[in-house]
Amino acid sequence: MDEIEIPEAIREDVELPKQSWLALAMPIIVVMALCLSVVGLVSLWLFIFQGNPISETTSDSTDPNAESKIISSQAQPKPQLKPQASVPTPITESEPVPEKTSKKDLLGHLPYDVVSTSELTAITADGSLKLRPAAANKFRQMQAAAKAEGITLVPLSAFRDDQAQEKLFFGVKEQRGQNATKRAKVSAPPGYSEHHTGYAVDIGDGNAPATNVEVEFADTAAFRWLEQNALKYSFELSFPPDNKQGVSYEPWHWRFVGDRNSLETFYKVRN
Ligand SMILES: [Zn+2]
Repeated sequence: MDEIEIPEAIREDVELPKQSWLALAMPIIVVMALCLSVVGLVSLWLFIFQGNPISETTSDSTDPNAESKIISSQAQPKPQLKPQASVPTPITESEPVPEKTSKKDLLGHLPYDVVSTSELTAITADGSLKLRPAAANKFRQMQAAAKAEGITLVPLSAFRDDQAQEKLFFGVKEQRGQNATKRAKVSAPPGYSEHHTGYAVDIGDGNAPATNVEVEFADTAAFRWLEQNALKYSFELSFPPDNKQGVSYEPWHWRFVGDRNSLETFYKVRN
């Protein structure tokens, strides 16, 4: 009995490991196959769609600069990325904020409010030329100081309203057959003249009237005197040679910047 039972037990022992190995191995093989297929699918998904989320997040979270373009192009150099990479480009071109401030100007001239005539004081005997009181007082002082040195400062134009500026800009423009850009080099469009503020005055030399409102005024004794003394009365040249606004050199055109309001009028950044 014992001799018979032993081999059976052995057979069973031999057969049992075979069954248990298969029973253990099969699930492992199945799990490994599933894992491989999952990994394969995931890597395939990443390979196909990786470019999209990278380029979107970089363009949303950071500036769409060259670095993000390099990252997205390195991630996947497929033609799909080319339209996506080109998306940030027009954004950067339309984004620069400083340009908004320059949109205020018109042909190099900045807009100015027209001061009420009730706030003006005459600087000529006939009352035809007017400035704001602070500017008028300083102009008269400057004129007297120049006179004491034999220099005759003649005010040629001071405050001008919209209508006067309109005639000056468009009337002369048509008369001379100038286009708007060329006209704006020597005259501001209505609404954009410093003469609207009541702080600007065109000055001539009483001893050289031929140079009135001409660049040749720069060669006169009056201009040389102004160059040396005008700042003592808070008058300065608005359009010196090669000025930032691109307006032609106007040696006759001076503006008052001797109080808070005039300083803010000409120097405050406009947004
Ligand atoms: Zn002027």
